Order: sequence, then structure tokens, then C-alpha cells
Amino acid sequence: MMLPHRLRNDFPLAVITLIGGMAVFVLGPFVIYRFATGAMVHGALNLLVVLAILGAMSYAWRTGNCRWTGVFLSIMSVASATVTAMLPGAVGLHWFYAALMASYLLMGVGEASVLIIAAVTALVAHGGAFNSATQMWTFVVATALVSLFAYVFRWRADAQHRQLELLATLDPLTGCSNRRAMDRELLIAVNTNARTRAPFGLAMLDLDHFKDVNDRYGHEAGDQVLVDLAELLRSHSRQEDRLFRFGGEEFVLLLPGVDEASLFTVCDKLREVITQSLSHAEQKVTLSIGAAALRTGEDWQSWLVRADKALYAAKEAGRNRVCVAPPPAHGPSSSTR
Ligand code: GH3
Ligand code: MG
Ligand code: MG
Repeated sequence: MMLPHRLRNDFPLAVITLIGGMAVFVLGPFVIYRFATGAMVHGALNLLVVLAILGAMSYAWRTGNCRWTGVFLSIMSVASATVTAMLPGAVGLHWFYAALMASYLLMGVGEASVLIIAAVTALVAHGGAFNSATQMWTFVVATALVSLFAYVFRWRADAQHRQLELLATLDPLTGCSNRRAMDRELLIAVNTNARTRAPFGLAMLDLDHFKDVNDRYGHEAGDQVLVDLAELLRSHSRQEDRLFRFGGEEFVLLLPGVDEASLFTVCDKLREVITQSLSHAEQKVTLSIGAAALRTGEDWQSWLVRADKALYAAKEAGRNRVCVAPPPAHGPSSSTR
């Protein structure tokens, strides 16, 4: 189903929706109670908050822009809790803790801290929310402690999120980025080329007769060859090149700044140096490369398919060689070399 899927995969949107639900089911009865008991100012203020939260939630669902919705909701909740607390006879201080926690969920930790400090400073300067100095300082210390816990929790959650993102895009055997990361970077390359016409080359590499290495020396030896290959590819490519393990014993190298004219030379140099260095138990391991230069206007999938077809051509032509793909559609005859 569509809704649970978005809620499962978009944490900020889930928090915003939770706050929307709370606005209706928790604040809603308060609005009715306030109006029923004649507390018109409080009632109107609460109603305004409910409507603003629902408006922001619907904006987040429509546009997917949770960043600014989160900032808006945080500022609004903290500001309304602060103003409510300043009203005579108000019990708004209690709302302040809920608003504080919401800010740490909805904004960056630094931004949330600045907002909370500003609000606490305003409350202390105004003074109307407190019956005594003891109550005021208790509030300041309690707020500082809750903020500290929220800060630590959020900081840890962010660090874990970054680590998970990294793990989700890394191949555990070779340490190369995986196919998921590749899809993203090829799309970025295509968009960059569309904007700036900057050239990009793509090389798809596949070990020759790799099954023989596995059959003869075992799967572990095969794994070691893959690790060695990744290391060689990394050390013989430029810093700006991006290496991905496409799957099995196939790797993809994204070569920014490499145009059609130089693509063959770059790839063939790489093939030569790797063929010279890669071996297992005295047996040389060679590789074939299919390469394609990005054509402005083509999508990354078609670019990848052209490199894959060129790789197939390199295998067909006898392996241990580089083939460069012809341009897409009705380009000149194959520039396979
Ligand atoms: P070709 O020259 O046509 O590429 O011959 P090949 O034997 O390399 O054939 P192909 O590329 O189709 O075979 C891939 C083999 O790579 C099959 C599988 O045994 C091996 N392989 C794929 N992934 C791994 C891996 O993670 N570790 C090891 N050790 N072997 C793998
Ligand atoms: Mg192979
Ligand atoms: Mg293969």
C-alpha cells in the first residue's frame, strides 16, 4: 500500500504525521474544552496551532519537503508553548517539554538547541510563567537536562544513520561501492553532463575465465583475486574515478573527464597493468573491458547497456582486450578495437 510505504521509508514524514495526529487527537479536545469553558484566547491560540500543524502536514505529504516543514513545525510549537506559558494563569510550561522533543526530532540538533535556548531565555526574561525563582530555575535545569538527553539521542541516531547509509552502499568483500551507489552516481554524471557538457567515460570490466580460477583453486582463492583486482583498480585509477562492484566478478569504473577520443587508451592502459599484476598461484588472470563515452541526452541505463554490449564484444573478440561502444542508435559503425 502507498501510505504505509511512505511512512516506513521517510522518517521525517512519519514524525510530521505523528505530530499531525497528535494535533487532532490531543490538542483537538483541548480546543473544545477551552471554548466550552469560555477561555476564548487560549481556545483560539490552540485552534490556530492545530490548523497550522495540519496545513504543514498536508504540505509535507504533497511536496515531500520535510526539511522546511520540520523547521516550521518546530518554531511554531516552541513559540506557541512559550507564548501560552506567558499568558496569565497558563499551564503552558508543560507543553514546552513536548515541543522541545518535537524540535529535536524535526530539525538539526544545532538548530533545535538554538531554538530551545532562545525560548528559555525569553521565558526567563518575561518571568510571567513562574510563581517563584525556585520554580523558574527548576524549569531551566529540567529543560537543560531534557535537551541534553534529546541531543545525545539524536546525535547517536544521526551517526548510526550515516553508518547504515555507508554499509548499504559498500560491497563487503572488496570495499568498493556497490550497485546501489553506482545507479546514483551514474545519474549524477548524466545530469552534470546535461548541464555542463563535461565528458564522462564508463568502463565495465569482467575477469576472463574466472570460473576456472574458482574450479581449480576454490572459491576462497577466487575471492582473493577479486580483492586483489579491486585494490589494483583503485591504485591505478585517478582520485576522481569511481569504482563499483557491479556484481560477481564484474566491476564498473566511472571516469569523469574522459571523452570518447581518450577512452580506449585509458582503459587499455588499465587492462595492461592489471593483466601484468593479477595472478593466482602463478596463473595469470586477464580481464576484458567494455567502455562507453556518455552521449549528451542519453539516460544512464542506456549508457550502461552500451558498455555492457561492448564488454560482450570484447569477450567475443577473444578476451583480454578493450572494446569501445559505438554511439547510441544510428551512430557510425562500431569503433571496436
Ligand atoms: P568469461 O571470460 O566469459 O567472463 O568467463 P567466466 O568464467 O569469468 O564467466 P562468467 O563471467 O560468466 O562467470 C562468472 C563466475 O564468477 C561465476 C562464479 O563462479 C564467479 N563468481 C561470481 N561472484 C563471485 C564471488 O563473489 N567470489 C568468487 N570466488 N567467485 C565469484
Ligand atoms: Mg568473467
Ligand atoms: Mg561475469
